[in-house]
Amino acid sequence: MGRIVHCCAILPISVKKQNDMSNTITVSQIKEIVQQAYNEIKSNTSGKNADYIPFLANIDKDLFGISICLMNGQTINIGDTNYAFGIESVSKVHTAILIMQQYGAQKVLEMIGADATGLPFNSIFAILLENDHPSTPLVNAGAISACSMVQPIGDSDKKWATIVKNITDLCGSAPQLIDELYKSESATNFNNRSIAWLLKNYGRIYDDPDMSLDLYTRQCSLGITSNQLAITAATIANGGINPVTKVQAFNKELAAPITSLIATVGFYEHSGDWMYTAGIPAKTGVGGGIMGVLPGVMGISSFAPPIDSAGNSVKAQLAIKYIMNKLELNVFNGKQVHIVD
Ligand code: GLU
Repeated sequence: MGRIVHCCAILPISVKKQNDMSNTITVSQIKEIVQQAYNEIKSNTSGKNADYIPFLANIDKDLFGISICLMNGQTINIGDTNYAFGIESVSKVHTAILIMQQYGAQKVLEMIGADATGLPFNSIFAILLENDHPSTPLVNAGAISACSMVQPIGDSDKKWATIVKNITDLCGSAPQLIDELYKSESATNFNNRSIAWLLKNYGRIYDDPDMSLDLYTRQCSLGITSNQLAITAATIANGGINPVTKVQAFNKELAAPITSLIATVGFYEHSGDWMYTAGIPAKTGVGGGIMGVLPGVMGISSFAPPIDSAGNSVKAQLAIKYIMNKLELNVFNGKQVHIVD
């Protein structure tokens, strides 16, 4: 260990390679690369806050943070990493884990699916194309269906408490509802209302449609920090055990299927481009958050409100890509990663 730290002190930002299939990185290298990413990307002005949810249009567009959580629970945070922003679609991952935990991965496959839609997150066309199937819990249709599946069926208050407890276990601290966001989204979610009732028509809503939609809207309106999302991602990367609190948030057998869902559709219609260029399964939300899961290595998150046309934060994408590429981390490169002090 001492020897590796010494070598890396000589080459502070290059990755120490033991051989072609091994990649040893120090924590200080990671910190340095995260700082570089922050400095380079901070003043990027591309993208635009989501405005179809009025509350999101008014969030300070210059907020920007990057967080990493390692498998030993160590966290690295730069920028606005304690700012609670709307979790939005990133919450689809948390609730997908919850229903996989309650029903098992196979049942979720049968009741919702695990396919990419290749279409925007709120597509109604995708439901029709898939012959009534919501495709995946990580698009709006599948996420509303997932909320309908949360047990106990029929009891909105208990379902909500279960959803929040699950998110708390995953991220290690309780998320707070952003009431104004919830009101703003509830008043304008006409497209999602159509989705809920179309799913009802096809028998893919497993509880009251309006209640299921309300739970979905509420979970999207939870405030979360990039630090909390990095810890969630690290919990998934760590086989269900939260590396900070040591709480077992879900069974380890679910880590692979949930990560595969994230890889398949985490960036909606840009999921292929993302995996090709960033090499990390990641889930985005229109609130500007992204969380990435590098199995056995780390969770990473970034947050900046301006998004691109597919609803993915421009700066958060750039930051995660920068860090992955500089550290030569890639879920497909077959390299064993060793992180040392
Ligand atoms: N609550 C948002 C919606 O349903 C989430 C979309 C997203 O973050 O991609 O439109």
